[in-house]
Amino acid sequence: MGNDVDGTAKVTLRQAEEEVITLASELIRIDSTNTGDPDTVVGERAAAEYVAAQLAEVGYDTTYVESGNGMKGRGNVFARLEGADPSRPALLVHGHLDVVPADASEWSVHPFSGAVQDGYVWGRGAVDMKDMVAMTLATARRLKRDGIVPPRDIVFAFLADEEAGGMHGAQWLVDNRPELFDGCTEAIGEVGGFSITVKDGVRAYLIETAEKGIAWMRLRVRGRAGHGSMLTDDNSVTRLSEAVARLGRHRFPLVMTDSVREFLAAITEMTGLEFPEDDIDGAVAKLGGLARIIGATLRDTANPTMLNAGYKANVIPSSAEAVVDCRILPGRQPAFERELDEVLGPDVEREWIANLPALETSFDGPLVDTMSASIMAEDPGAKVVPYMLSGGTDAKAFDRLGIRCFGFAPLKLPADLDFSALFHGVDERVPVEALEFGTRVLDRFLRHS
Ligand SMILES: [Zn+2]
Repeated sequence: MGNDVDGTAKVTLRQAEEEVITLASELIRIDSTNTGDPDTVVGERAAAEYVAAQLAEVGYDTTYVESGNGMKGRGNVFARLEGADPSRPALLVHGHLDVVPADASEWSVHPFSGAVQDGYVWGRGAVDMKDMVAMTLATARRLKRDGIVPPRDIVFAFLADEEAGGMHGAQWLVDNRPELFDGCTEAIGEVGGFSITVKDGVRAYLIETAEKGIAWMRLRVRGRAGHGSMLTDDNSVTRLSEAVARLGRHRFPLVMTDSVREFLAAITEMTGLEFPEDDIDGAVAKLGGLARIIGATLRDTANPTMLNAGYKANVIPSSAEAVVDCRILPGRQPAFERELDEVLGPDVEREWIANLPALETSFDGPLVDTMSASIMAEDPGAKVVPYMLSGGTDAKAFDRLGIRCFGFAPLKLPADLDFSALFHGVDERVPVEALEFGTRVLDRFLRHS
């Protein structure tokens, strides 16, 4: 990667670094809370219009799309920057505009203030993910203003409804407007590209290459209805409770996918910390806040989350229901279901009420090399490392189009910041310097991808 930034370009890159702070702050000030209830959606449209205006101002043609189904205000914005080689497939750069709710009484600053203070931009969305939206906008604006032609087409997508599963955003667009992604074979988005400090001043940047599947399951047990005062050996509440307790306590086997194995190997190489299979949970716990995510990618999980049965204290109901939040590793769905049936036994009916499959791509190829080089140009001692996200993102939708998805929203973070706790957390905030760093990395990455 040569030093091809001339004097003028350096000035406009500096301008992008300044812009990114304003953009992040202004985006946070647009309350785009997504509770999951479509009737309460407030600012997604305003956020989308803001993004479209920022792009149009520097000369982009933008496409504004709302999902159908009589649903209003679920704004999605697209823009394409043409590359030098039209025969090459395009790169998708995506970010979601909605945020989860925030209770202002719990925060040090108002969650929709976008306050810039103490070296941070504060507010709901600061790390999930108006930070990346702002970095993408700042970079897209700088490339257009300077007439920089990237090696291949870049498709910028700003999306609604990620926090409720993307049914009015990415998932809807893939089903109903797949032409918007024509030619895209690779994508970057959340949740990756952030640094962890592995030893004094040495950072690893985690690139998301895999996501666990999200599978919500309803369990039902049917029994004999009857009077609560009489003897019964067929109580649906008792039998459901036993099954739910068995499942909740069940530990699924340790399964190391490539992403997890490569992550642990890289950490061992950088720190000497070993991850023996007989005490892997203990070793992973030493990773600090990140252990919350990494620990959850070692095995499938099934957490009971809802119970529903009965309508009166003295009536034994004829059925009882529970909902279980299952998170399944890539490639494990059939084995997981077999194990599930063994634990639950034959009397428990089960059905999927949501099932978004896991995904995994390999950590190799020119795009990964460019990520690595772009990071290393700004943080020379660093190393990029693949990892698996225990949750889900819009990548689940784009994976259905055969697009290779990576989490790459570059941020150089202070060693003592508990970054993973900020996602959906109180006092969500992002360092000003991290946004500037990320903008420089993204600029370099997009000019060379
Ligand atoms: Zn997010």
